[in-house]
Amino acid sequence: LFITVEGPDGSGKSTQIILLKEFLEQQGIPHVVTREPGGTAISDRIRSLILDPAHQEMVDETEVLLYAASRAQHVKEKIMPALAEGKVVLCDRFVDASIAYQAYGLGIPVEEVKAVNRFATGGLMPHRSYLIDIEPGDGRKRMMHRYAGESMDRIEQKELDYHERVRAGFKSLYNENEGRFCLVDGSQSVEAVFHTIEKDMKILLSN
Ligand code: C5P
Repeated sequence: LFITVEGPDGSGKSTQIILLKEFLEQQGIPHVVTREPGGTAISDRIRSLILDPAHQEMVDETEVLLYAASRAQHVKEKIMPALAEGKVVLCDRFVDASIAYQAYGLGIPVEEVKAVNRFATGGLMPHRSYLIDIEPGDGRKRMMHRYAGESMDRIEQKELDYHERVRAGFKSLYNENEGRFCLVDGSQSVEAVFHTIEKDMKILLSN
């Protein structure tokens, strides 16, 4: 079972992933928790290159290809082997994030981002994707709180308009793939968000 958690910056993804991990542990379900960009040594090095605020000169094509390169390594080195062992793989972001951030956010045609990613992943897609929706202004407020004055990464620093496009991108993905997504209102409390996710996970695991 391959599960992803998606949503705009500051949506509370990371907190929900910690709670989901605890849930899987309590249930005694073998699992691997991982994240994008990153998840392997090579992918982590690519992540720091992509997110480095010193690299404002990075062109959009490079960004798409670096995310895809990081993902390719992650899929073959970590995700596929874990799935083959029958584990639940819980991943913080995947291809949907590239469609939302790079296609909708940067304005690269969706079909091109999809094609590059099809090559990178060999067509692997999640069985279930939790989409935590948040208004970008609210997401930013939460992040400012989290960083407490420290600087945000290169993507997080982008203007709110960009983050609005990303959010709209996630919403279109949801509309096109309602069967795969579970949409959760991220403006609710941590407990309320988790309650929805946990309920859905229980159904998934019982099938
Ligand atoms: O998920 P997390 O917030 O840790 O992601 C790190 C950064 O990478 C964020 O700023 C996120 O917006 C960005 N990102 C992106 N495109 C992706 C995946 C993540 O711009 N495909």
